[in-house]
Amino acid sequence: MSGDPRRILLVEDEAAIRDAEVAYLESAGFAVTPAEDGRKAVEAFGKGPFDVVVLDLMLPVLSGEEVCRRIRANSDVPIIMVTAKGEVEDRIIGLELGADDYLVKPFSMRELIARIKALLRRSRTEDEAQRETATYGDLVIDLAGHKVFVRDEEVELTPSEFKLLTTLARYPGRVYSRMELVEKVLGYDFEGYERTIDSHVKNLRAKIGDDPHNPTWIYTVHGVGYRFEIPKATQSTDGD
Ligand code: CA
Repeated sequence: MSGDPRRILLVEDEAAIRDAEVAYLESAGFAVTPAEDGRKAVEAFGKGPFDVVVLDLMLPVLSGEEVCRRIRANSDVPIIMVTAKGEVEDRIIGLELGADDYLVKPFSMRELIARIKALLRRSRTEDEAQRETATYGDLVIDLAGHKVFVRDEEVELTPSEFKLLTTLARYPGRVYSRMELVEKVLGYDFEGYERTIDSHVKNLRAKIGDDPHNPTWIYTVHGVGYRFEIPKATQSTDGD
Protein backbone atom coordinates (compact mmCIF):
# COMPACT_ATOMS: atom_id res chain seq x y z
CA MET A 1 0.00 0.00 0.00
CA SER A 2 1.79 3.11 -1.18
CA GLY A 3 0.45 6.51 -2.16
CA ASP A 4 -1.64 8.87 -0.06
CA PRO A 5 -1.73 8.39 3.71
CA ARG A 6 -4.93 7.05 5.24
CA ARG A 7 -7.19 9.85 6.45
CA ILE A 8 -8.62 9.94 9.97
CA LEU A 9 -11.32 12.20 11.36
CA LEU A 10 -10.55 12.50 15.08
CA VAL A 11 -13.40 13.86 17.20
CA GLU A 12 -12.41 14.69 20.79
CA ASP A 13 -13.39 17.71 22.87
CA GLU A 14 -10.59 17.50 25.45
CA ALA A 15 -7.74 19.52 23.95
CA ALA A 16 -4.92 17.70 25.75
CA ILE A 17 -6.12 14.26 24.64
CA ARG A 18 -6.88 15.48 21.14
CA ASP A 19 -3.45 17.06 20.69
CA ALA A 20 -1.70 13.94 21.98
CA GLU A 21 -3.70 11.69 19.64
CA VAL A 22 -3.13 13.91 16.62
CA ALA A 23 0.61 13.98 17.26
CA TYR A 24 0.79 10.25 17.74
CA LEU A 25 -1.32 9.34 14.71
CA GLU A 26 0.60 11.74 12.49
CA SER A 27 3.88 10.27 13.64
CA ALA A 28 2.46 6.87 12.65
CA GLY A 29 1.88 8.15 9.11
CA PHE A 30 -1.83 9.02 9.14
CA ALA A 31 -3.33 12.27 7.89
CA VAL A 32 -5.47 13.53 10.78
CA THR A 33 -8.29 16.07 10.78
CA PRO A 34 -9.22 16.99 14.37
CA ALA A 35 -12.69 18.19 15.40
CA GLU A 36 -13.52 19.53 18.87
CA ASP A 37 -17.30 19.23 18.93
CA GLY A 38 -20.11 17.32 17.23
CA ARG A 39 -21.11 19.99 14.76
CA LYS A 40 -17.54 20.54 13.59
CA ALA A 41 -17.21 16.79 13.22
CA VAL A 42 -20.22 16.59 10.90
CA GLU A 43 -18.96 19.58 8.89
CA ALA A 44 -15.48 18.09 8.59
CA PHE A 45 -16.90 14.74 7.56
CA GLY A 46 -18.76 16.46 4.73
CA LYS A 47 -15.41 17.63 3.36
CA GLY A 48 -13.94 14.10 3.44
CA PRO A 49 -13.50 11.39 2.36
CA PHE A 50 -12.05 9.68 5.44
CA ASP A 51 -10.85 6.12 5.89
CA VAL A 52 -11.68 5.92 9.62
CA VAL A 53 -13.58 8.09 12.13
CA VAL A 54 -12.55 8.07 15.82
CA LEU A 55 -15.54 9.47 17.67
CA ASP A 56 -15.81 10.44 21.32
CA LEU A 57 -19.32 9.77 22.66
CA MET A 58 -19.57 12.67 25.13
CA LEU A 59 -19.23 15.84 23.05
CA PRO A 60 -20.48 19.41 23.24
CA VAL A 61 -22.99 20.88 20.73
CA LEU A 62 -23.91 17.53 19.13
CA SER A 63 -23.43 14.21 20.93
CA GLY A 64 -21.27 11.44 19.54
CA GLU A 65 -24.45 9.40 19.08
CA GLU A 66 -25.97 12.07 16.88
CA VAL A 67 -22.75 12.46 14.90
CA CYS A 68 -22.65 8.69 14.37
CA ARG A 69 -26.27 8.69 13.22
CA ARG A 70 -25.63 11.49 10.73
CA ILE A 71 -22.50 9.90 9.31
CA ARG A 72 -24.24 6.53 9.01
CA ALA A 73 -27.15 8.11 7.14
CA ASN A 74 -25.00 8.14 4.02
CA SER A 75 -21.67 6.46 4.69
CA ASP A 76 -20.26 3.06 5.64
CA VAL A 77 -16.93 4.56 6.80
CA PRO A 78 -15.46 2.57 9.72
CA ILE A 79 -16.24 4.31 13.03
CA ILE A 80 -14.52 3.71 16.37
CA MET A 81 -16.64 4.99 19.26
CA VAL A 82 -14.76 6.19 22.34
CA THR A 83 -16.60 5.84 25.65
CA ALA A 84 -15.77 6.66 29.25
CA LYS A 85 -15.05 3.82 31.63
CA GLY A 86 -18.03 1.82 32.77
CA GLU A 87 -20.52 3.12 30.24
CA VAL A 88 -21.52 -0.29 29.00
CA GLU A 89 -24.89 0.97 27.80
CA ASP A 90 -23.10 3.47 25.61
CA ARG A 91 -21.19 0.70 23.97
CA ILE A 92 -24.45 -1.00 22.99
CA ILE A 93 -25.87 2.29 21.78
CA GLY A 94 -22.77 2.89 19.69
CA LEU A 95 -22.99 -0.50 18.04
CA GLU A 96 -26.71 -0.10 17.43
CA LEU A 97 -26.02 3.19 15.71
CA GLY A 98 -23.56 1.45 13.44
CA ALA A 99 -20.17 2.04 15.06
CA ASP A 100 -17.72 -0.72 14.10
CA ASP A 101 -15.68 -0.84 17.26
CA TYR A 102 -15.33 0.96 20.57
CA LEU A 103 -12.52 1.96 22.90
CA VAL A 104 -12.92 2.60 26.62
CA LYS A 105 -11.03 5.54 28.13
CA PRO A 106 -8.29 5.60 29.19
CA PHE A 107 -6.64 3.66 26.37
CA SER A 108 -3.06 3.62 25.16
CA MET A 109 -1.95 5.11 21.85
CA ARG A 110 -0.79 1.66 20.80
CA GLU A 111 -4.31 0.34 21.37
CA LEU A 112 -5.78 3.15 19.29
CA ILE A 113 -3.42 2.45 16.38
CA ALA A 114 -4.10 -1.29 16.60
CA ARG A 115 -7.87 -0.75 16.36
CA ILE A 116 -7.51 1.68 13.46
CA LYS A 117 -5.30 -0.73 11.56
CA ALA A 118 -7.73 -3.60 12.19
CA LEU A 119 -10.59 -1.56 10.74
CA LEU A 120 -8.50 -0.56 7.72
CA ARG A 121 -7.77 -4.23 7.07
CA ARG A 122 -11.50 -4.97 7.27
CA SER A 123 -12.40 -2.31 4.77
CA ARG A 124 -9.70 -3.63 2.46
CA THR A 125 -11.40 -7.02 2.69
CA GLU A 126 -14.53 -5.19 1.65
CA ASP A 127 -12.83 -3.62 -1.37
CA GLU A 128 -11.72 -7.07 -2.42
CA ALA A 129 -15.24 -8.42 -1.90
CA GLN A 130 -16.55 -5.76 -4.26
CA ARG A 131 -14.74 -7.50 -7.08
CA GLU A 132 -15.91 -10.93 -8.09
CA THR A 133 -15.48 -13.72 -5.62
CA ALA A 134 -15.08 -13.63 -1.87
CA THR A 135 -13.94 -16.71 0.06
CA TYR A 136 -14.64 -17.20 3.77
CA GLY A 137 -13.36 -20.68 4.56
CA ASP A 138 -15.78 -23.17 3.00
CA LEU A 139 -18.15 -20.40 1.96
CA VAL A 140 -17.62 -18.76 -1.43
CA ILE A 141 -19.70 -15.86 -2.67
CA ASP A 142 -19.66 -15.14 -6.40
CA LEU A 143 -20.83 -11.53 -6.41
CA ALA A 144 -20.87 -11.04 -10.15
CA GLY A 145 -22.81 -14.25 -10.73
CA HIS A 146 -25.03 -13.92 -7.63
CA LYS A 147 -24.11 -17.44 -6.57
CA VAL A 148 -23.11 -18.98 -3.25
CA PHE A 149 -21.15 -22.17 -2.71
CA VAL A 150 -20.59 -24.14 0.49
CA ARG A 151 -17.90 -26.81 0.22
CA ASP A 152 -18.10 -26.49 -3.59
CA GLU A 153 -21.84 -27.19 -3.64
CA GLU A 154 -24.03 -24.40 -4.96
CA VAL A 155 -26.66 -23.16 -2.48
CA GLU A 156 -29.86 -21.62 -3.84
CA LEU A 157 -30.64 -18.37 -2.04
CA THR A 158 -33.53 -15.97 -2.53
CA PRO A 159 -32.54 -12.41 -3.53
CA SER A 160 -33.19 -11.22 0.07
CA GLU A 161 -31.06 -13.99 1.53
CA PHE A 162 -28.25 -13.21 -0.92
CA LYS A 163 -28.42 -9.51 -0.03
CA LEU A 164 -28.44 -10.34 3.68
CA LEU A 165 -25.38 -12.58 3.37
CA THR A 166 -23.38 -10.11 1.26
CA THR A 167 -24.33 -7.22 3.55
CA LEU A 168 -23.08 -9.05 6.64
CA ALA A 169 -19.98 -10.48 4.94
CA ARG A 170 -18.96 -7.09 3.56
CA TYR A 171 -17.58 -6.01 6.94
CA PRO A 172 -16.56 -9.09 8.92
CA GLY A 173 -16.75 -8.39 12.65
CA ARG A 174 -19.11 -5.43 12.27
CA VAL A 175 -22.34 -5.73 14.25
CA TYR A 176 -25.49 -4.90 12.33
CA SER A 177 -28.70 -4.14 14.21
CA ARG A 178 -31.89 -5.74 12.89
CA MET A 179 -33.14 -2.29 11.92
CA GLU A 180 -30.06 -1.62 9.80
CA LEU A 181 -30.47 -4.98 8.09
CA VAL A 182 -34.12 -4.25 7.36
CA GLU A 183 -33.08 -1.03 5.66
CA LYS A 184 -30.13 -2.48 3.78
CA VAL A 185 -31.72 -5.78 2.75
CA LEU A 186 -35.42 -5.07 2.45
CA GLY A 187 -35.23 -1.35 1.80
CA TYR A 188 -37.99 -0.22 4.16
CA ASP A 189 -37.98 0.74 7.80
CA PHE A 190 -41.13 -0.30 9.63
CA GLU A 191 -40.32 -1.70 13.05
CA GLY A 192 -42.46 -4.80 12.60
CA TYR A 193 -40.11 -5.99 9.88
CA GLU A 194 -37.25 -6.62 12.31
CA ARG A 195 -38.68 -10.10 12.88
CA THR A 196 -38.59 -10.63 9.13
CA ILE A 197 -34.81 -10.30 9.34
CA ASP A 198 -34.73 -13.02 12.00
CA SER A 199 -36.56 -15.40 9.70
CA HIS A 200 -34.31 -14.55 6.75
CA VAL A 201 -31.28 -15.22 8.97
CA LYS A 202 -32.82 -18.51 10.10
CA ASN A 203 -33.41 -19.62 6.51
CA LEU A 204 -29.97 -18.45 5.40
CA ARG A 205 -28.29 -20.36 8.21
CA ALA A 206 -30.22 -23.52 7.32
CA LYS A 207 -29.22 -23.25 3.66
CA ILE A 208 -25.50 -22.67 4.24
CA GLY A 209 -25.41 -25.15 7.12
CA ASP A 210 -24.47 -22.66 9.84
CA ASP A 211 -25.40 -23.79 13.36
CA PRO A 212 -26.70 -20.80 15.38
CA HIS A 213 -25.45 -22.40 18.61
CA ASN A 214 -21.96 -22.99 17.22
CA PRO A 215 -21.67 -20.62 14.28
CA THR A 216 -19.00 -20.65 11.62
CA TRP A 217 -20.04 -17.41 9.90
CA ILE A 218 -23.17 -15.71 11.24
CA TYR A 219 -23.21 -14.78 14.95
CA THR A 220 -26.18 -13.53 16.92
CA VAL A 221 -25.38 -10.44 19.01
CA HIS A 222 -28.00 -10.67 21.74
CA GLY A 223 -30.28 -7.69 22.06
CA VAL A 224 -28.72 -6.03 19.01
CA GLY A 225 -28.54 -8.03 15.81
CA TYR A 226 -26.00 -10.05 13.84
CA ARG A 227 -22.42 -10.08 12.66
CA PHE A 228 -20.39 -12.11 10.18
CA GLU A 229 -16.98 -13.57 10.99
CA ILE A 230 -14.29 -15.01 8.77
CA PRO A 231 -13.60 -18.54 10.10
CA LYS A 232 -10.47 -18.38 12.27
CA ALA A 233 -8.47 -21.06 10.47
CA THR A 234 -8.67 -19.17 7.19
CA GLN A 235 -8.05 -15.66 8.44
CA SER A 236 -4.32 -15.63 7.85
CA THR A 237 -4.29 -17.22 4.40
CA ASP A 238 -4.91 -14.03 2.44
CA GLY A 239 -1.29 -12.98 2.73
CA ASP A 240 -2.15 -9.79 4.59
CA1 CA B 1 -15.63 13.97 25.67
